[in-house]
Amino acid sequence: MGEPQETHFAFDFVPLQSPDQTRIFPFYENLKKGRLTTTRCKGCGATHWQPRVVCPDCNGDEMDWVDLPANGKLFAFTAVYAGAPLGMERDVPFVVAVVELDGAPMKVVARIDDAKYEDLKIGDPVRLKVHELADGRVWFRFVPT
Ligand SMILES: [Zn+2]
Repeated sequence: MGEPQETHFAFDFVPLQSPDQTRIFPFYENLKKGRLTTTRCKGCGATHWQPRVVCPDCNGDEMDWVDLPANGKLFAFTAVYAGAPLGMERDVPFVVAVVELDGAPMKVVARIDDAKYEDLKIGDPVRLKVHELADGRVWFRFVPT
């Protein structure tokens, strides 16, 4: 949504995503293919959100990548009218929600596109949307179904 916007690196809301910048680069590669994924610890089996490079439960650092559901329901939401992060100032107002993923014991925070705050209610179904930036990076959002 909206025009591509230039944001100074130091204030950039979207992380750098290449293998030389982050050890969770598979998250972004999977997201580019339309898959929301996270890490599961090979040592203790714990699944975490967000993806981790070290397990907070057992300190293991060997992880498997696992798919998360692309569908969920609005657990909570609000609208941003002011004070948006740099690069999103021209998008206001927009909706930010806590999405309870279907069949997964975790909730994720994301923007909700293609919806006005006034038209949403708790429990509304949403599905994953891959948001592409002009420079090729991606981030996840959700849209009502
Ligand atoms: Zn572990």
